[in-house]
Amino acid sequence: RQDRLNGDLEPAGGLFHNAADTDPSLLANRVWGGRILARVPSSDLGVDTIEQALVTDAAALESLIASTVVAGAAWGSRSAADRAGFVRRAGYALEANRDRLIEVMASETGKTIDQADPEVSEAIDFAHYYATTAVELDAVDGATFVPSKLTVVTPPWNFPVAIPAGSVLAALAAGSAVIIKPAPQAKRSAAVMVEALWESGIPRDVLVLVDVDEGDLGRSLMSDPRVDRLILTGAYDTAALFRSWRPDLPLLAETSGKNAIVVTPSADLDLAVADIVKSAFGHAGQKCSAASLVILVGSVAQSQRFSRQLVDAVRSLRVGYPDDPSVQMGPLIEPAAGKLGEALTSLGVGERWLIEPRQLDDTGRLWSPGVREGVLPGTPFHLTEYFGPVLGIMHAPTLEKAIELQNAVPYGLTAGIHSLDAAEIHRWLAEVDAGNAYINRGITGAIVRRQPFGGWKKSSVGAGAKAGGPNYLVHLGSWLNDPGAP
Ligand code: GLU
Repeated sequence: RQDRLNGDLEPAGGLFHNAADTDPSLLANRVWGGRILARVPSSDLGVDTIEQALVTDAAALESLIASTVVAGAAWGSRSAADRAGFVRRAGYALEANRDRLIEVMASETGKTIDQADPEVSEAIDFAHYYATTAVELDAVDGATFVPSKLTVVTPPWNFPVAIPAGSVLAALAAGSAVIIKPAPQAKRSAAVMVEALWESGIPRDVLVLVDVDEGDLGRSLMSDPRVDRLILTGAYDTAALFRSWRPDLPLLAETSGKNAIVVTPSADLDLAVADIVKSAFGHAGQKCSAASLVILVGSVAQSQRFSRQLVDAVRSLRVGYPDDPSVQMGPLIEPAAGKLGEALTSLGVGERWLIEPRQLDDTGRLWSPGVREGVLPGTPFHLTEYFGPVLGIMHAPTLEKAIELQNAVPYGLTAGIHSLDAAEIHRWLAEVDAGNAYINRGITGAIVRRQPFGGWKKSSVGAGAKAGGPNYLVHLGSWLNDPGAP
C-alpha cells in the first residue's frame, strides 16, 4: 500500500478502518495481519441503480444522448481547476465507499478481497492523478485544448471498479460528459462506483449510467455520430467490432494479452517463483496482464529446482470463494467453457501436466490452478489468450531465443524478465515488444503514474495512450492552433 503513496498522489488512507464503525451483523470480515479491520456487508448493492439505468427503446436512448451532449458542453466550459476539484472529490468518495466497493466486486464477480482492496486504491489513484494532469494540461502554452463533448466508456468485468473509474474520471477531467455502459457480468460494481461519484458532486446529467443490451441498442449508442470518443477495455475482437461499426470514431482501447516471464540462469529463483505465481494465478488468471507463459533459459530449464519450487508454491495456493478472506485464488467469472475449458482439460502435442487443474465443485467456476510443461513454439498454448488459471512452461537455449518466443505472440501487453545480470536486462529491454516491461517484478498490478498501462500490437486499438500516464487525457479532446501540442 505504501507503494501507491508516491509524489503528489494523496494518501488514500482508510485501509485501517475501525471495525466498530460498521454493522456487526455484516458477513465477510476484512482482515490485515490477522486482525479484523472492517466488516463488509453482503447485500444487493447497486441493484436499484442498475434497474433505473436500463434503457430498452431507441427513443429513450436518443433523448439520453441528446441531454448528455448538452450537459457535456456546459461541463467542458468549466475551468480545468474546477473540473479537477470534482474529480479529486470523487477520489475521496471512492475511499469513503471502499467497503461497499470491495463487497460488490466480491459478491458479483468472485474477486477475492486481497485483489479487490488494492483495486479500490487504484481507482482512487486515478482520480488524484487525472485531476493533477488536467490542471497541467491546461497550463500548456501556445495551444487550446478542446475537450470531447461526449465520451462513451465500455469497461471490462475483470477490473469492475478501477478501470471504469479511471476511464470515466479521465474523460470528466478532460472536460467531456460520459455515458458508461457497464460490462454485463459486472453491472452492480459499476453502479456502486457511479453512485459514489454522484454522491461526491459529479452531476448526474454529466455522468450517465446506461444499461443497454449488446445488440441493436448497444450498436446505436456506440455508433451515434454525437459520440466523439470511445474508451474500451476488453477483448481485441470486441474493439475491432466496435471500430467496424464506426471507423471514424477516435478510440482508446486496451485489449488482449498473452504474456510471458523469462527466467535466466542468473535469476533469484525464490523471487521469480513468487512473482510468477502471483502474476499467473491472481484473480484466477483473469487479467489481460496475467502471466500465462514462463520461458526458462538454458540451465534453468535443465535443473529440477525451479519446477520443484514452482509446483510447491502453486499447490500451496488456497482456492475458494471470496467470503473466506484467506482465499488466494477465487472462482472464474463463468463456468469454464470454450477455449479455456479445453486449456484446463487437455494438452497439446509434447505437453505434460506438472499440476493438472481440477474442477472443485459443480458450479464449473471453481478450478484449482494448472501448470503444463513442454509447450512448443507456434502451438495454440504458446499463442492464445485463455484468461484463466493455467500456466505453460517453455524452454529456450539462449536469451535471444527466449525473446523471440516472447515476441512471437500477436499481442504486446505485459512482459517480464527475472535476471540479475545487467547486460541481459538491457538486451531484453531493447528487444521485447510489450507496452509494460517489468524487471524482477510480477507483471500484473501496474501502478498509476509509475507504470502507465497499455499495450502494443493487438493489445491496443486506436490511440494507444496508456491509462494512468501523461498522454491519456491528451487523447480525450483535440488541439487548436498548434498541431504539435502539447
Ligand atoms: N491494469 C491491470 C494490471 O496491471 C490489468 C488490467 C486488465 O486486465 O485489463 O494488472
